Amino acid sequence: MSTIYNFCAGPAMLPQPVMQKAQQELIDWNGLGVSVMEISHRSKEFIALTQQAEKTLRELMHIPQNYHVLFMHGGGRAQFTNVVTNFLGNNGRALYLTSGQWSSSAVKEAKRIAGESQIDEINIVETINGLHQVCLPDLNQINKDYRFVHYCANETVDGIEIFESLTSPWPIVADLSSTIMSHEIDVSKFGLIYAGAQKNIGPSGLSIVIVRDDMLSLPSLVQSSVMDYNITKDNDSMFNTPPTFAWYLAAEVFEWLKSVGGVSAMEKINQQKAQLLYECIDLLPFYKNGVAIENRSRMNVTFQLADSALDSQFLADAEQAGLVALKGHRIVGGMRASIYNAMPIEGVQKLVVFMQEFAKQHS
Ligand SMILES: *Cc1c(COP(=O)(O)O)cnc(C)c1O
Repeated sequence: MSTIYNFCAGPAMLPQPVMQKAQQELIDWNGLGVSVMEISHRSKEFIALTQQAEKTLRELMHIPQNYHVLFMHGGGRAQFTNVVTNFLGNNGRALYLTSGQWSSSAVKEAKRIAGESQIDEINIVETINGLHQVCLPDLNQINKDYRFVHYCANETVDGIEIFESLTSPWPIVADLSSTIMSHEIDVSKFGLIYAGAQKNIGPSGLSIVIVRDDMLSLPSLVQSSVMDYNITKDNDSMFNTPPTFAWYLAAEVFEWLKSVGGVSAMEKINQQKAQLLYECIDLLPFYKNGVAIENRSRMNVTFQLADSALDSQFLADAEQAGLVALKGHRIVGGMRASIYNAMPIEGVQKLVVFMQEFAKQHS
């Protein structure tokens, strides 16, 4: 089988060594003679796995002691609802900063649950010299009482990333679905971090929540026990049967990340990968990217061909060359190369060579 590089935005490629280990262990995990999928989530072997997963995640992200780590159902979007039902009570208000498709979806969901009057929204993307740029508002100037401010650190669809750290008088709730563990962050700056697993962590369906202890005493209106942060915490993320196979794979991804040097080592590689691609796009008039340099995503590199009539040819030729899933999101069109932690630099190098050749052939 020739090497395929998969640039899918999510569910995204997983590290090769993890997939190979999972394949080996599929029908006999831990010498039990059965798969990890076929054992009780309350067995001592599985509980040991969950404890190790949390320990390694805490090490990787330097998660302080006063934060809880929850492994939940429902991917990224379940948390769009959960942060509202868990934190706003009857009359609490929240501020949403919008910077693209995902943060806009989060506001829409929040309003569906809480009602318009409880949710305020500020769009933080401006178009300056034709480029999308994030301009963070000075939140200390806003004289209102919010339970939290919500933002999305990396807009997976739009290719817009916010590297600057937000300062806020209210707890910060962040959607890190597509950027978690791609670079170092200071967890202590956040009230809650959540991420759907299928970009940088593991299979879809699982969501990781990292929540500061004091957030859990906010008045909750949660109706479903499975979606209640306190109940989830009190039951070690096992109020009901958790997605055990996804949890197992996530644990393996954490071990892999640790073995390659952790988040700081990964951050350097991610910088190099993104730089290679953006350099190629900037050097050739054949391609363009519409995001200001300081907000260009290191995980989702969006770009357009100068002549969109060549889009389908580009995608077909790329696929022939073993470079798959480069089509941009259906809402924004163009191309998108998602280069999460699992994408080796060789994949990006190969894509760059392909893009240079394609441009030469068609200029
Ligand atoms: C993919 C993604 C989501 C949605 O995840 P689901 O698991 O499909 O609910 C939310 N936010 C961001 C930033 C994403 O990239």
